[in-house]
Amino acid sequence: MHPAIPHLIELQRVDHQIAALRAELDTFPKRILEADAKLSVARAELAAAKETHTQGATERKKLEFDVQQWKDRARKYRDQSGAVKTNESFKALQHEIANAESEVGKAEDRQLEIMMAGEELDRRAKLAESRLREAEQAVAAERKEIQVQGAEKKKHLEAVLSERERFMAPVPEDLRELYARVAKRHNGTAMAEARDGQCRGCGMRVLPHIVQELATETNEEVYRCESCGLILYTLAPIPVAKPASTNS
Ligand SMILES: [Zn+2]
Repeated sequence: MHPAIPHLIELQRVDHQIAALRAELDTFPKRILEADAKLSVARAELAAAKETHTQGATERKKLEFDVQQWKDRARKYRDQSGAVKTNESFKALQHEIANAESEVGKAEDRQLEIMMAGEELDRRAKLAESRLREAEQAVAAERKEIQVQGAEKKKHLEAVLSERERFMAPVPEDLRELYARVAKRHNGTAMAEARDGQCRGCGMRVLPHIVQELATETNEEVYRCESCGLILYTLAPIPVAKPASTNS
């Protein structure tokens, strides 16, 4: 087995770690957006409660105006009733007065209804406001937690990336290129263990003499699986990878 293979095995391990960390880091912006979305629900609820409240106030103003209109009309008819000549006209006016008074009563009833509903709406708006405050606090805490986690992951990623550099340092240029090429083609995986006469990457058979060569320390060839093309290694004997020291 080529002496750089143990380094490539470690490289593979850290590369898988790097890929997992990057995939996880990619989810963080979405997690923050999801947290913020909870806030917009609470904000919409409060806005809806306030809107209903405003509508009630508008209707009350309109009803006040209606009450005044009908009252004025009833007064006008009453004033006129003293001057009518016929019994028929008098009756007609009495009828108009009764109608206007009944309209006043209806508008006043509706005003009362709105006033009572207004109390309920106030309660609802206050509830929506306190829910929003709670949501704001919860989301702020959640955002902070996500940011802390994100910072930790980034720190971990940086550590693994520098570990990668140390494993990479002793690997000759041609092997680095081969590793990169194979990994690119196989979704980040370049190495496969040959175990029990099989390539663990694809499950196909590895010829016994190749297994033999892999296990021979003096052999400096690089072998690849004939089926999938992954770089083969064997853990028997167990290879020892020593990362190059940082100051070398
Ligand atoms: Zn294979």
